Formats: sequence, structure tokens, C-alpha cells
Amino acid sequence: MVVLKFGGSSVATIEMIDSVLDIVGQRLDEAPVLVSSAMGKTTDRLVEATEAAGRGDRDEYRRVYTELREVHEDAVRRIADSSVREYAAGRLTDLFDEIQALLTGVSLIQECSPRTRAAVLSFGERLATEIVHARACDRGFDSVLLDSRDLIRTDDEFTAANVDFRETERQIKAYVIPIAGRVVVVQGFIARTAGGVTSTLGRGGSDYSASIIAAALEAEKLEIWTDVDGIMTMDPRIVPEAQTIDSMSYDEAAELAFFGARVVHPSTIQPAVDRGVPVFVRNTRNPDLAGTRISDATDIEGPRALASKSPTTVITIHSSRMLNAYGFLARIFAIFERHRLSVDVVATSEVSVSVTLDDPPDLSGLMSDLAAFGRVEREDDQALICLVGNRLWRRSETVARVFDSLRDIPIRLISLGSSDVNLTLIVPSEALQRAVRTLHNTLFVP
Ligand code: ASP
Ligand code: MG
Repeated sequence: MVVLKFGGSSVATIEMIDSVLDIVGQRLDEAPVLVSSAMGKTTDRLVEATEAAGRGDRDEYRRVYTELREVHEDAVRRIADSSVREYAAGRLTDLFDEIQALLTGVSLIQECSPRTRAAVLSFGERLATEIVHARACDRGFDSVLLDSRDLIRTDDEFTAANVDFRETERQIKAYVIPIAGRVVVVQGFIARTAGGVTSTLGRGGSDYSASIIAAALEAEKLEIWTDVDGIMTMDPRIVPEAQTIDSMSYDEAAELAFFGARVVHPSTIQPAVDRGVPVFVRNTRNPDLAGTRISDATDIEGPRALASKSPTTVITIHSSRMLNAYGFLARIFAIFERHRLSVDVVATSEVSVSVTLDDPPDLSGLMSDLAAFGRVEREDDQALICLVGNRLWRRSETVARVFDSLRDIPIRLISLGSSDVNLTLIVPSEALQRAVRTLHNTLFVP
């Protein structure tokens, strides 16, 4: 069996839902489980409505509610078969009545607990899957709609609930029976507590749901269908020559995730990866492409992708007291800890230590605390470039190519070898674009 997860942008309209069903229709013999997010930005809208209701702003939450209702009802009106259409319309009416009642309740007490918030947000996926399932039936698919709240069991952190994996696996195995020729439709994001109350897995949680289901059923594949071709060698807004990566390891994906949204967040796919289920990132608008494969394979070596972060600040502490001293770094880092600043890169010499801070706020307190140790220097407008790839430092020829290609760039700091998958460089911000493009095209463009 396979798990195919479609994000909000993939199910934003009935036309997109049709594209999704075209894809799933080709895969019926693989016994697909279709995990769907809420349509488009529905979850954001539900957040807005809940917040407006919490402020007692009736006009605003009703406006958002009406808009959402129209979008969903419009999609249902497009269903051709009248009995399927009427059934789906009836389901939507019931669900929207519930949302209305909840929002009215919130606006009357002008208070919204996490439990209530999770209840309201859960409707996005519930509405979307009613429509996906109805359209599948309309098109003659053998489709079964399940409620993920019967599958995924969590604790009481209602809006960022923690999964009880044992019970969840038992439930998934008991209720989800994948059969070739049939599609099972389920919601991402939503779950239920041991006490039977609706919970959610945190924003963007549909990937996690899909991964949990794929793990429990030991799927042949988990495919995350979104609106990009896959994970890319670099942000194409910075380097136009960026290319889609065919395959990468989980560790590489995790390293990249640190640099911001890289399509999937590795922690969400961990359950699938732990069970050896290969994960693919694919584009609903471009289904002929194979996308990016993420697996626990360790045989892929060499440069895989670049990422950057800018601006970043370099702080350097010079002190001759550091010579042959112990505990010096610990005392310096205690100061960063006290100021709640997270350090990205560290480089040391015998008498100085440099660290980088990501886009820091006011540093005057930090600077004066550090001054107790020696001379402190601050350099702003620096940028961090990270090259990700398995066994990087073990490949001296890769390292040589990196520095050779950057011959004309003033490299301020280097970090290599602490992890097997990362080489980090700090360069002046003004040189970032030039550096990253040169490096990218040397390493990735044949
Ligand atoms: N609909 C939820 C959200 O927008 C979950 C998801 O799309 O993954 O956060
Ligand atoms: Mg999403």
C-alpha cells in the first residue's frame, strides 16, 4: 500500500481536487490511503474566525465564516451525481452548523481555550475530506472516508498534541484496510485524546499524520504532494540555476530544515523514515516528475544542497586568559545562555573565540557582559552559507573545489567536520549572492 498526502494548495479548488483524483486514479492498484489537508488557507481562516469570536467581533467572524461556507459549498455544487451531491451538501450543512455553534459560544464567553481552538480548526480537514470523498464517488471511484480521530490518539495538549504511538498504531491497523482498487480518504492534522476529545497535531501537522499512518501500515512509500517540484539545490530566488534534488538522506534534509521552510519538516516524516518507508516530495501541478526521495540511505555522498541565512552577526572575544585555561568556553556560553541567544557557528583560536548569531536583537547587554572576559568585537551584515551533503569533510576533493571556487570571496569563518553533513561559511552579506551562485554552479551545474 502507499500513502499519498496532499497539502492545502493541492486541494484548494474542485479543479485541483480533480487533479488529485487523476493522480490517485492511476495508483488504485497500489491500495492508496489519501491523506488530505484543509482546502487552501482554510485553517488560517478558521484561526481568524476563532480570534475574532474571542474578541466578541461578531461581524468579523461571521464574514470569515460565510466566506468559508461559500468556498466549500461552491465545490460541492460542482458534483455531477445528484445523490452524491445532496449527501455531501447535507454533511457540509451539519459541519457548518457545528462551526457556527462553536463560534457563537466563543463569542459569548469571549474566551477560547486550546481545546476549543482545536475543535474549531479540526473542521478544515473534515470539510475538505467530505468533498474529496464525494468527488471520488462522483467519478466512480470505490472510496471510503474514515475519521482520523478514530486513528490517531494523543494527549491533552489540544493544539500541539503528542501522539500515543502504541494506541495509534493499534487503531490504524484495526481500522484502515487498504485494498487494491479502492481509495481510503482520511484527514491530516486531526486526532483525539484518550478522553475522546478532538485534538490537532500542530500547524502543518498533516505531513505528520500521513507519516504516522505510513509507518503503522509499513507503506511501500509515503508521497507528500505539494506545489513545488521537490527539494531544490538552493532557493531559486537567490540562485536561478537551482535544480530539483533526486534523492537525499534524512540527515541532509534535517540539516536543511534548520534554514527555514524546505518543503517538508524532517521531524514530521521521522515516523515513516524510522520504519524504512521512503518518502517522496512531489508536485501536484507537475505529476510526471519523480520529485525528491528522502530516505535513511547512507550511500549517497557528496554535496547535495546549499542554504543561506542573512544577516548574521559575528561576535569575537579576544582574551589571553584563554591560553591553557579550562572552563573558559563554558563561562562564555553561559553568558549567551543568560541572554537567551542561540549560537549558530563557533570558531576558536588559542586566544579568541568567534560565534555567529542569527539576526540578533539589541546586544548591548551581551556585549558588556562579555567585556569582562577581554576585548569584544562585533561585525554585522555577515551571511551564513551552508553546504549540505553526506561525508563532506571526508572528501578532500569537494573541500578543495569549494575553496577554489570562492577564491575571490573574503571568507570570514569556517566550520567543517563537526557533523558529517555540513560545511558552513560566513561571508560578508554583500558577497552572499555572488558566493552562493559561484559555489552552486561549481558544485551542482554540470
Ligand atoms: N491544515 C493544517 C494547517 O494548515 C494542517 C496542514 O495543512 O498540514 O496547519
Ligand atoms: Mg501544509
